[in-house]
Amino acid sequence: MNGRTAGRISAILGLALVALGTSVAPAEEPARSPLERPEFPALVRLHVPGRAGLDAMENAGFDLTGGLTRVPSGFEVDALVTPEQRRALTRFGARILAPGQGFRWPDPAESQRRADALLADLDRPAFVLDSVKIGRVDSFTTKGQGFISVEAKSTQGSTPQLILLWDAGEGTVVGTGGRAVMSAFVDSGVYMYHRILTPVDARPSQVMVVSTFGSTATGYPSDWLYPVEALIHGEGYRSDFIDGYKDPTQLYARLEQIAEEYPDITEVVTLPHTTNGYRRKAQATMGSGNSAVVVSSTAWGHEGGNDITVELAAPQGGAPLGVTIDGNAITVQLATGSTAQQVIAALNAEAGDLVTAHTYRGNTGTGAVAATGPVALTDFLQAPPSVSREPFPVRALRIGKEPRDEPRTGVLVIAQDHAREWVTPLVALEAAERLVQNAATDPETQRIIEEVDVFIVPSNNPDGSHYSRHDFSSQRRNMTNHCGEVDSDPGRRNSWGVDLNRNYRVGSGYDGYSGASTSCISNTYLGPGKLSEPESQNVIGLVEQYPNIKFFMTIHSNGGQLFWQPGAYIAEGRITTPRPEMRDEAYYWQMAERILSHVKAYQDTPVRPDNVGGSADVLYSSAGNVREDLYNNYGVYAFGWEIGGSVWNPDTGSWQSGSFQPAWPQAHGEMMEYASGVVEMFRIAADHGDDQEPATTSIVPGEGTYAGPVDVRFQMSEPATIYYTIDGSRPTFASSRYRTSGIREDGEALPVAQTTTFKWFSVDPAGNIEGGYDPDGQDEGYRQATITITGPQPAPRVSRR
Ligand SMILES: [Zn+2]
Repeated sequence: MNGRTAGRISAILGLALVALGTSVAPAEEPARSPLERPEFPALVRLHVPGRAGLDAMENAGFDLTGGLTRVPSGFEVDALVTPEQRRALTRFGARILAPGQGFRWPDPAESQRRADALLADLDRPAFVLDSVKIGRVDSFTTKGQGFISVEAKSTQGSTPQLILLWDAGEGTVVGTGGRAVMSAFVDSGVYMYHRILTPVDARPSQVMVVSTFGSTATGYPSDWLYPVEALIHGEGYRSDFIDGYKDPTQLYARLEQIAEEYPDITEVVTLPHTTNGYRRKAQATMGSGNSAVVVSSTAWGHEGGNDITVELAAPQGGAPLGVTIDGNAITVQLATGSTAQQVIAALNAEAGDLVTAHTYRGNTGTGAVAATGPVALTDFLQAPPSVSREPFPVRALRIGKEPRDEPRTGVLVIAQDHAREWVTPLVALEAAERLVQNAATDPETQRIIEEVDVFIVPSNNPDGSHYSRHDFSSQRRNMTNHCGEVDSDPGRRNSWGVDLNRNYRVGSGYDGYSGASTSCISNTYLGPGKLSEPESQNVIGLVEQYPNIKFFMTIHSNGGQLFWQPGAYIAEGRITTPRPEMRDEAYYWQMAERILSHVKAYQDTPVRPDNVGGSADVLYSSAGNVREDLYNNYGVYAFGWEIGGSVWNPDTGSWQSGSFQPAWPQAHGEMMEYASGVVEMFRIAADHGDDQEPATTSIVPGEGTYAGPVDVRFQMSEPATIYYTIDGSRPTFASSRYRTSGIREDGEALPVAQTTTFKWFSVDPAGNIEGGYDPDGQDEGYRQATITITGPQPAPRVSRR
């Protein structure tokens, strides 16, 4: 790096720090040890060459904060890095990006030139060497600009180049709209598919993918997201109830107020466990190096710890080392040459009721202690007294007309598992306000109130969130210190806590899944055990107490993404947590489109299709996240959101990422648009509860006589699980399930080479079974169709099953 670059980067770091409001450590009394100063990380944008590096950084405790973008050469991501971590970046192949240095989608003209060069060079091989299958083809617009997003897979993996051609609209020739080279998406060493997102002048009606290995495939764009008129709700629908950021004390005060104002349709449900509380032991670090002594109060700071002083008094003649206590004032009379170890032993023996003492970060403590103080112990907490220091009762606002219990469909929305994501609780609270304040007048809201059992937890991490609001804005985790002595000095106070969204049981870091750290000072610390924290126990407790909860959303920021399962994998072999079965994957997509169309309605922000799906597929592995637990253990459709970010800027022609604590106008916009998505989730739950209609299904091509082998697929009127047999037996829940042909792909093709009778039934997401068939009974009310093959029979072959 040359001097000029270095200068530029430090200028950028300075800016980033100012933007975070963390450029200056809080003022401390001059007498205090510099060792008490916490490290202040800087926000930077990184380039990381591959998934392996990204995972390794997560596991090593790097704080990858958001704005993750997949670029052809790897990833770009925002990160908070300490000076020590910055020096370690090269170990992961990562580098800091200066503004303007980041990836830009290739200029369409340049991309087209490359595509045309490849097409011109394309020697049609004598044999076609691969087969290309087109997955998703999505068309959408934002801020006046059209885009297509295409995913396609070659049977030869990432080796061939794939070129996308599209037409200029109905009736035009494919290729006249434009041509571009797709990027191969290889994840943790596994080829996923090729993909591209490209601006278009006109909505294409047809696309073609040409492989340099000779094959081609044709696809037809679907519209991603649909226009929503005034939130479905009619004139007079009220919204926009929140005018600024709120800390959990303020959020829960409003929650209680709502319950008082609307007693007929709300109640406050107190979750089973209180948090540890916004509180710390009072501490001081005295001295330095091997002579440093770390002292911590046995009482919490606010319960007397903050009143304690410790003085290390200079040796007097030949007096021996001794400790005197006068009320809360501890005086250590040093002897000549008293070492830190000796002082610590004396403090623990003589003042153990008031304090404990240990060496600094594992030092031996053999250095001679210098006279110091008196120094007041402090918990360093800066929130006003209006913020309680007691364990915090986390609550859910339960909304609905009584009785709210089964058979009502339950929806649980939680926000702010990560403390610094300040917009997220406002999204949850705004959604609650919309329900209660429109309940008397708006028919769609009345339907939700009558048919759905809503639970809203505006801040599931109140301690960490108070800390983020009042002490350290970049706090992500809860406030609980699980570190031993070595990392428990006050200089570490911004590095303690459990990442609540790594503390769950399915796909846990304890079982080898990627994306969580076992270091108690890492920002992705998974906790001392699965479900060790009251905050995560609360979510599980609520879902167990209310088994009617069928839908779940955890709101995070930022990135502009909507996730479900799989959300974690074991890096070696890329073994993911269970993939949702075909019905659930299709249902997730259907719900996503509804939710995100409502998000887009407010200010034309499209959450892009390439940012939607299993988070392990579209972002990275998050070991032990809540979504995996709720879906796999309780069958809850469990979404996770990264709100904010990925907003198209027509002036710069680029996608912009968001931030944790944007200026209010931007925060307000995000709150408004995503609250609309939450309300749409409630409507989805109402529809789910109303759903008495089973899916109707058929096979394609249909029953009939065919001259040769055919590929059979099932078609369905809505997402459904199909259980089928081809051996003449009655289909049951133990029969084969119809599956997708691959990740983010449609239903598989079932090759039929000889006459075959399919017998099947379907089950929709609400559990309705097609035709009233009883799979456990004796009736013959299943569907059936026979494919008769008359043509020349191929040689006997081994069945694919
Ligand atoms: Zn988060």
